[in-house]
Amino acid sequence: MLGRTRLTGVLKRLVHGMGDALFPAKCLGCGRLFQHDTATSSTARPVGFSAAMAPHFCLPCLDRWTAVASPLCSRCGLVFKSREGDDHLCGRCLDRPSTFTRARAVGIYDNTLKTAIHALKFKGKVSLAGPLGGLLLDTFRYYWTDGDVDVVAPVPLHRLRFRQRGFNQAYLLVRGWALPEETVVIRDLLVRIRATDAQTGLDRQQRRSNIRNAFAMSRRGQSSGKRVLLVDDVLTTGATADACTDALLRDGARRVDVLTLARAL
Ligand SMILES: [Zn+2]
Ligand SMILES: [Zn+2]
Repeated sequence: MLGRTRLTGVLKRLVHGMGDALFPAKCLGCGRLFQHDTATSSTARPVGFSAAMAPHFCLPCLDRWTAVASPLCSRCGLVFKSREGDDHLCGRCLDRPSTFTRARAVGIYDNTLKTAIHALKFKGKVSLAGPLGGLLLDTFRYYWTDGDVDVVAPVPLHRLRFRQRGFNQAYLLVRGWALPEETVVIRDLLVRIRATDAQTGLDRQQRRSNIRNAFAMSRRGQSSGKRVLLVDDVLTTGATADACTDALLRDGARRVDVLTLARAL
């Protein structure tokens, strides 16, 4: 006769196996069905991209992403093509520095990370916000120390876009963050007062003028003397981050840093 513990173990494996057999997951990347081992993903906190994204992507797709790594631009976080040498300022930042102090990201905006962001933003896969937000928090802790930031502020959507989408993905990413007591997330620190045309297809200069003065403070003086961390899903030319930073600095913010899930090349 089987001991009680062993029997429970056998039953668990049986039920677990049935669950896998009955409910294989569909990969958000390639659309293939795959078995996700839920036993290994039930640990308290996802560690790394593959673990965090494992319920949503098959193994080959999990491998298709690129972490942001040095050498990169010490200001805007642009990843240099050459994989050797130290961080330094890129040509753009030497030419015309951004108004934010520094920008960092989890990974390059391509392949599986791009697919995950699109699924969250455009297909309403809000269950991705938790694991993606966890990766973002890990990246925040890697580049910043507790106490470096007073306010975490998501880049806002215009109210028309918000109504259409039903959520602001940037806010969903930071909503569950466990932060020290002195650091607060303010959902509506900034408001988007102009509905701008899509930025896709515009060069850096066009993006800048397209988005200039698109943001304002929801309450004046709220960022006065504060170190603000702006959070968004993607940083492309930095025009949006710059426009937000301008509004924050006009309001008296001491310093503005930027953190995004992805960095476009
Ligand atoms: Zn796949
Ligand atoms: Zn740069």
